[in-house]
Amino acid sequence: MNGVTYDALVIGAGFAGLTAARDLAKDGKKVLIVEARDRIGGRAWYRLFADTNFSIELGGNWIDIDGNVALMAEVERYGVHLSTSPQAENHVSRLDGVLSHAACPITEDEQRALEHLSQQVLVDVRRIDSALPLDQQDVADLDVPLDSYLDGFGLAARVRELVGAWIRENTGCHESQISALHLMSWIPNLNNSVLALGHTPTHRFAAGTIDLLRRMLDDSGAELRLSTPVVAVTQSAEHVEVRTQGGEILRARGAVIALPLNCLTDVSFTPALSQAKTAGAAIGQAGAAKKLWALVTDLPPKLLGVGGHDEPIDVFFTDFPADETGLGGDLVVGFSTQERPLDILDREDMEVAMRRYVPEAGVVKVDGHDWLADPYAKGTWCAAPAGLLSKYASALEATEGRLVFAGSDIAHAFRGWMEGAVATGATAAGRLSAILAQR
Ligand SMILES: Cc1cc2nc3c(=O)[nH]c(=O)nc-3n(C[C@H](O)[C@H](O)[C@H](O)COP(=O)(O)OP(=O)(O)OC[C@H]3O[C@@H](n4cnc5c(N)ncnc54)[C@H](O)[C@@H]3O)c2cc1C
Repeated sequence: MNGVTYDALVIGAGFAGLTAARDLAKDGKKVLIVEARDRIGGRAWYRLFADTNFSIELGGNWIDIDGNVALMAEVERYGVHLSTSPQAENHVSRLDGVLSHAACPITEDEQRALEHLSQQVLVDVRRIDSALPLDQQDVADLDVPLDSYLDGFGLAARVRELVGAWIRENTGCHESQISALHLMSWIPNLNNSVLALGHTPTHRFAAGTIDLLRRMLDDSGAELRLSTPVVAVTQSAEHVEVRTQGGEILRARGAVIALPLNCLTDVSFTPALSQAKTAGAAIGQAGAAKKLWALVTDLPPKLLGVGGHDEPIDVFFTDFPADETGLGGDLVVGFSTQERPLDILDREDMEVAMRRYVPEAGVVKVDGHDWLADPYAKGTWCAAPAGLLSKYASALEATEGRLVFAGSDIAHAFRGWMEGAVATGATAAGRLSAILAQR
């Protein structure tokens, strides 16, 4: 047993855990952060691209500077610099088998159909209050697979393919695997614009997500144990004990559980977590994007590409032009999904994929991370499957005794975004402080 008793253990050093740890420490609490990996950041990971000196984000990347209020407050608090991904100057799409270089690859009639879809979806979106858990609202009829919801609109093939590509880029999985309600619940925070889903936010951290993460950790002064997976959590009326994979017991008066939803069932809780939380965690989240990075030559400058489901890549764009990287090519970022065979770490596979869009393209190097196989993520950003949120949203975030829960996967607003992680981390710190103040 470790001799020290902490006020709070924070399990998981992603954005949620670090926000909670910082806030608790600022509130005068003695905090220990316990992290399975040998680094902080979790699903935000800024590291060198392939064997170069140029860094990229393998995970969380872009910020909606207008909507991401909690994250932007952290950016301003620490004076973190942001940069922007370049505006596209060239376009390519392959939708319904048709190759196009138009900035808008659909006809005026099809644009009207898209506008109509957007208005219809907004009618449903207006029923959602993104500040409240979705199981406390009368919206269960929207918690259905997104493809069946979309089928009701009878969209023309090309529009349906365009919408599908946006959805897969936004969720990291096929439309059949996610809930319509999940995606719709983002829209109130995107200025009620359904079409905003077709535009990736452009702001990003100039020196990487690690810039903000490190400042939060340093500011907290909290103790940090890396490479320390937690395997069991036991709580009594007075305290919480955590057992690490190495067999060490750590003790505190309370704990913040800031784990990915898909990893929660890997930890044994005594007494067991509520039935509803356990059931929700067992369903888990479906986000499993393949986020790809490739150094590509012979591309039109600042290219944005979009592809239907028969294509290997849904959306890709030049994130760092050759003159910025100094690597002799453009650094392209893109997204695909698990059910397609594209191997994002295979240079030849990626070259074949890029040549579907630009026949003369040459792929020099590739990089990426398999988040689905990663034991401490088991998925990418949260994409809730049908039936999760209208039943278990409250239970997933509910405090249980001396355990409070945080994480982007259980956020109400901006679920799946870094914003959701920071916001829930702050809420969790407030909840645990209140519990600790009771004695
Ligand atoms: C490919 C990809 C692209 C993304 N793009 C964006 C984007 O552009 N914009 C955006 O806003 N968001 C994006 N996201 C989502 C964003 O990165 C996450 O929502 C956010 O970082 C999650 O933070 P978190 O603290 O909730 O969870 P995590 O970052 O997953 O933190 C949880 C921590 O718990 C640790 N852990 C797991 N198991 C154990 C254990 N047993 N013991 C101890 N520690 C454990 C993990 O190692 C991890 O550090 C993306 C994510 C991915 C993967």
